[in-house]
Amino acid sequence: MKHTSPGGLIVQQLCKEYPTPGDPLVILRDIEIELHQGESLAVLGPSGSGKSTLLNLIGTLDTPTSGKIELGGVDPFSLEQKALAIYRNQKIGFVFQEHYLLPQCSLLENVLLPTLAVGNPQSGAKERGQDLLDRMGIADRQGHHPGECSGGERQRAALARALMMRPQLLLADEPTGNLDRKTADQVAELMLDVQRQEHTILLLATHSQALAEKMDRSAELTDAYLQSR
Ligand code: ADP
Ligand code: MG
Repeated sequence: MKHTSPGGLIVQQLCKEYPTPGDPLVILRDIEIELHQGESLAVLGPSGSGKSTLLNLIGTLDTPTSGKIELGGVDPFSLEQKALAIYRNQKIGFVFQEHYLLPQCSLLENVLLPTLAVGNPQSGAKERGQDLLDRMGIADRQGHHPGECSGGERQRAALARALMMRPQLLLADEPTGNLDRKTADQVAELMLDVQRQEHTILLLATHSQALAEKMDRSAELTDAYLQSR
């Protein structure tokens, strides 16, 4: 396998299929991706084209039928369970269409959740969480619970949580899909600002042509193949 810059992402010959009584159902075929630190790629494609499947495979939430994934020189599928959990916690940030914030915790507590998984949170964790909420424009909301916040504020908090551990890779699956157009644009701009400041790789699934154009590159899933645009 070739190697990219430290912190880079390489996906080679990635395939995902589901067995059926007849021919297997092929969702992804020979996917190739190479992203250096700080680069962004939008994945477009209609519903059901495999965008979420691709992000879930790269995020190790699902296992490929064949192919290779390497992030920062590490093949996550070679790790045993405990090491894989640490890898997922430290190297990857996820944002979904739903915010999945815990309703009983404040926005700041939600942002700090990933630090609890490590056992003893590093000093400065709270400051890092507050700084991220500030950069996402919701510093004044840190003590509020998700139920007291708007959809845009909740999604900003979800982004801050995803970035808390300084992941090498941010996976965003239609992160603005539930927001109105104006709020979606604002949240997307904030996401891209912070992603650039932190040199995080961003892999984004979206239906929005306008959002895709703000990324370094875009590609489209068609008939299970990922084609550059
Ligand atoms: P997108 O995110 O682009 O809307 P998905 O990745 O969610 O697409 O789904 C891609 C395809 O994979 C869909 O046709 C879906 O029905 C199929 N699929 C997802 N999970 C399974 C499964 N467990 N068994 C069979 N097919 C599945
Ligand atoms: Mg999807």
